[in-house]
Amino acid sequence: MDLRPGEQAAELPAPDDAALRFIGRIRTPWTDRKDCPRQGDPDGPLCRVELDPPWDAALDGIEQFAGVELLYWLDLSRRDLILQSPKSDGKVRGTFSLRSPVRPNPIGTSRVRLIGREGGKLLVRGLDCLDGTPLLDVKPDRCAYTPVAPDK
Ligand code: SAM
Repeated sequence: MDLRPGEQAAELPAPDDAALRFIGRIRTPWTDRKDCPRQGDPDGPLCRVELDPPWDAALDGIEQFAGVELLYWLDLSRRDLILQSPKSDGKVRGTFSLRSPVRPNPIGTSRVRLIGREGGKLLVRGLDCLDGTPLLDVKPDRCAYTPVAPDK
């Protein structure tokens, strides 16, 4: 793929992915990256997190939480950029100083509002991924005392 001015890519062998297991899929209204929000909005559209068997049963007890944290695999991302220019404006930053989906291991995370559960499906608000994005993990939201990373 083409590089933008100032971007730098690594020469990488074909990825030999760690043996992650996809445990389901995320259903959202977005099928095109240009329509997808850059970060989820807690009042955004209702999305469905669909767990595959046997992991649907692993949701037991989740209903008690107002919020959950989702980890997902941003499967359509390129994975070789060291420096990126997200706005394509000549300004360049290191991959690890961005929450860009373009990263060596394209894991996305969102803390979402848990609206309900229907068997093996969670209804949530606050997502920012494309329809069909593979699901990696579901965790109860972090405790209130876990700080959001502040600026230096
Ligand atoms: N909230 C997550 C985080 O902070 O880790 C992801 C943030 S990332 C900036 C969200 C963007 O990733 C979306 O705006 C969209 O452009 C892109 N994206 C969404 N789903 C994707 C997918 N399945 N594969 C590749 N890119 C995706």
